[in-house]
Amino acid sequence: VAVLVSSVAVLSEVYGDLLRAAGATERLMELLHAESPVTNPTHPVALPPASGGSEVSLSEVNFTYPSRPGQPALQSLSLNIKAGETVALVGPSGAGKSTVLQLLLRLYDTQHGQITVDGVDVRQADMHALRQRIGIVPQDSVIFSASALENIRYGRPEASDAEVIAAAKAAYAHDFILALPGGYDSFLGERGVRLSGGQRQRISIARAMLKNPPLLLLDEATSALDAESEHMVQAALETAMKDRTTLVIAHRLATVQRADRIVVLDQGRIVEEGTHAELVARGGLYARLAAMQFQTGLPMPAITSAPTQG
Ligand code: ADP
Ligand code: MG
Repeated sequence: VAVLVSSVAVLSEVYGDLLRAAGATERLMELLHAESPVTNPTHPVALPPASGGSEVSLSEVNFTYPSRPGQPALQSLSLNIKAGETVALVGPSGAGKSTVLQLLLRLYDTQHGQITVDGVDVRQADMHALRQRIGIVPQDSVIFSASALENIRYGRPEASDAEVIAAAKAAYAHDFILALPGGYDSFLGERGVRLSGGQRQRISIARAMLKNPPLLLLDEATSALDAESEHMVQAALETAMKDRTTLVIAHRLATVQRADRIVVLDQGRIVEEGTHAELVARGGLYARLAAMQFQTGLPMPAITSAPTQG
């Protein structure tokens, strides 16, 4: 339940008040509040403008979930991300990857250490302003019971139709939307058109691109996609990462190869850092994970090849 609640929390802030409109219950909103006891500062510090991406810093962060006392999720975690950089977070299940994203969104406060976005401690920033600065593409893309146009518009409710369509084009969603019986007016969701996994992801990416945030948090889907969807999702992500800071929980080889830096987490700590080639050569946890985990859609030898350009 906690995981569900947290992702709803992210969506409700990141996609504005539209979640309530889309049918989230008061009870869910209450749960969310109880689970996430952060408060907005009375005199918030303004976030400076961030062009070309946000600067992110985690410094000596310790974090334990309130519901799991004595079992730290992150320990002495320090990580600096430069404006415009793409960092891939990799690690076994339970390593703390999603927790890092949740702390950046300030769904929880750390017990020790500091997290800053563009130089401002997240506890001192206005929560709404902070979450406005962040776009998120969750692991499981949420499709609302609404038209394709409105589904993408959740990313920025005041966007014009033309802006929504431009975002859909950038996210490689335009063509499949046009091919639906009602085009952009097609009703999606449980009682509407059922989209494939790759199509859902591209809707989710289009939302994030419409929002155009300086900081993009991506939790890459683990489910296998058909080859065509895989290719389009990769192309969409590539566009989405341009000219902004991206922190991506990576499950795919193409994504880690594209990252400026890979950070390997294990049991709440950073255990390795480097590029794909460096970490493969090192023969540590990353190399083992890479051999086991990455879904490439390619034969195994591709895993040890040098990163491709572009
Ligand atoms: P990853 O994303 O790398 O799989 P997580 O950040 O989700 O790891 O989890 C790190 C640790 O925190 C795990 O031990 C996990 O069980 C725990 N955890 C994650 N989310 C919650 C939560 N909402 N409440 C309590 N414990 C959690
Ligand atoms: Mg996770």
